[in-house]
Amino acid sequence: MRIIIFGPPGAGKGTQAELISEEYGIPHLSTGEIFRSAIKNETPLGKEVKSILDAGDLVPDEKVVGLVEEELRDEKYEDGYVLDGFPRTVPQAKAFDEILDKKGKKLDAFLQLEVPEEELVDRILSRGEGRSDDTPEKVRNRLDVYRNETQPVLDYYQEQSVVIGINGVGSIEEISNRIKESLEK
Ligand code: ADP
Repeated sequence: MRIIIFGPPGAGKGTQAELISEEYGIPHLSTGEIFRSAIKNETPLGKEVKSILDAGDLVPDEKVVGLVEEELRDEKYEDGYVLDGFPRTVPQAKAFDEILDKKGKKLDAFLQLEVPEEELVDRILSRGEGRSDDTPEKVRNRLDVYRNETQPVLDYYQEQSVVIGINGVGSIEEISNRIKESLEK
């Protein structure tokens, strides 16, 4: 199964992607995690993207697309995966379609986690993960970037009829059950 989990910062994409990964035995690919780990390990990629992540801005499309394309060559992704944090712009979505086309593969589901905006800021500020982009000002910037750059990705996939809306308010387990039910339909 090839799944995209989509939603604003703080919607719970990472948590739910991890659960989907366990449930269906498919790897979880998080572009945010790749960047954070590169920054932590002070790799050349990490040095390149650190100030971008710190500001809550987006890493340039070519960089992210190249990275995902490279990563997806690993045979562990052969039977499917859950993408979290990608695609985040319409050009990234188009590039991802080309990657799939080249491999003759199809996307099975685009899960849109829906959480009211008021709740997002509270969740991020109270989750205490110690992320350098989790301050009030940076969270506001990430939400602006989401609205301007990322939201249009939803319209793009709506045209492909793969979008499944998931109510993202409730306990982790409730949301995970909603996801399972909709994937099994
Ligand atoms: P969140 O959804 O909570 O903002 P992520 O872990 O998905 O967290 O992303 C953290 C940061 O990593 C983003 O603010 C951005 O700087 C960078 N990033 C992650 N994925 C992408 C992407 N697909 N394109 C551009 N930048 C990205």
